[in-house]
Amino acid sequence: MKVLYVSSEVVPFAKTGGLADVAGVLPLHVQQSGCDIRVVTPLYSATQKKGFDLDPIGSEFKVQMGLKTYSGLFLKAVFKQSVPIYFVQCDELYVRDGLYGDQDGDYPDNAERYIFFCRAVLELCRQIDFPPDVMHCNDWQTGLIPAYIKAGFGTGFFDTTATVFTIHNIAYQGLSGWDKFELTGLPHWFYDMRGLEYWGQMSMLKAGIIFSGIITTVSRKYAREILSPEYGCGLEGILHDRRTDLYGVLNGVDYDEWNPGTDKLIVTRYTAQTLKLKKQCKKDLLVQCGLPEALLAAPLIGSISRLVDQKGFDLIAEAMDRLLRLGAGYILLGSGDTAYERLFKKLASRNKNRMSFCCAYDNQLAHKIEAGCDMFLMPSRYEPCGLNQIYSLKYGTVPIVRATGGLDDSIIDCSADALDTGNGFKFEEYTADALFGAVQRAVALYADAPRWREIMLKGMSCDFSWALSAAEYCRLYEIASNK
Ligand code: ADP
Repeated sequence: MKVLYVSSEVVPFAKTGGLADVAGVLPLHVQQSGCDIRVVTPLYSATQKKGFDLDPIGSEFKVQMGLKTYSGLFLKAVFKQSVPIYFVQCDELYVRDGLYGDQDGDYPDNAERYIFFCRAVLELCRQIDFPPDVMHCNDWQTGLIPAYIKAGFGTGFFDTTATVFTIHNIAYQGLSGWDKFELTGLPHWFYDMRGLEYWGQMSMLKAGIIFSGIITTVSRKYAREILSPEYGCGLEGILHDRRTDLYGVLNGVDYDEWNPGTDKLIVTRYTAQTLKLKKQCKKDLLVQCGLPEALLAAPLIGSISRLVDQKGFDLIAEAMDRLLRLGAGYILLGSGDTAYERLFKKLASRNKNRMSFCCAYDNQLAHKIEAGCDMFLMPSRYEPCGLNQIYSLKYGTVPIVRATGGLDDSIIDCSADALDTGNGFKFEEYTADALFGAVQRAVALYADAPRWREIMLKGMSCDFSWALSAAEYCRLYEIASNK
């Protein structure tokens, strides 16, 4: 089976979040299941600066958008030793400081940038003579591709191409003014309530949902949640209409990158058999974060995240004084909304001996936090899948999470009736009190060293490798092709 995997970000080339992690590893596992899978993504300045060996291929192509014509080129590389990846080059659109925006917000021409990308993907297939059996699109940046295929773009080339569309986060919908619709080149009847129109705007995410053969999202719980007004962000009605084609597949993680037994970014490697060595990682982390060695004996809680409303930092801030009074330490690595950045800088300066805030994006520190902390706190308001709680399990860093989306699917609470199966702590209600209650239960069990060790080992033995999820995607590719 021929599959083209389309993603606006791919590790190790460019990343803002979990989508890039997924796109950087799922294709390899799909390939190992016997598919001819290739990946395509834009060529951003972030990628150009990293100096990868990229070979130009094919010929220059042009896309007319309204009065303007954009020119593009394709480049090719191979990643993970065997997966072909194509880059769409158009410096005018993709050579920027950020991927989707900067400190002033989203780039105002994001519609142009991703209309062009979607058109370029169709052109790529023709240039490399690769009519895919399945076009696997991800998030709003690729949402127009199923619409183009439905509209018959490519004059017969895509007649047998099925489309699978994965929603990694329904809150990001690729909305733009209605006037951008004419740039798409789609027939005018695509712009209505059963098409790209969304309350007077153009929604690229809605296009993906409506025109793809199969829709997936990144956990079973989130697949159910987005059918409700609380989580569906206005698209719950459309998703409800398509619920028989909606599937939840939990993301796997890349244990080549996130494994304390082989991790080169941490001071000491450890496994379930050498768990005592984790303490050295804690010591190293405390030094790096300027926290006192006295915290070695205290429960050390960590978080790594984009600082946005989704992630529950309002709850953490509200509960912070009480958390620290429990005797815990807290380390936060994150950047994002300035209001949260300011708030946590203030909290950290008030609690210098117990709390550290690193306002940055820092992959090495992320690994050190996973290895050095005792607990990982992730109280998201919603969480389609979430990766850090799964990394934490492997590092013996016990997750404390809100029971939503992938957090709920991956974490089993250590309640009295799950003594043997529990790998973390969960709370339901989105309140600081509920969060505090879960941390309190974790801290109480931390004092019981043999029991705590059992919970750590239970987490470390969990297997969220990609093989299972990749097999599920292959099954869905078959279903989509036979529709
Ligand atoms: P989301 O995709 O919503 O950001 P996920 O948990 O699915 O959340 O994935 C986030 C990914 O980004 C993880 O690999 C995490 O380690 C990484 N990450 C987020 N913020 C930072 C940061 N400040 N520094 C380093 N890595 C980060």
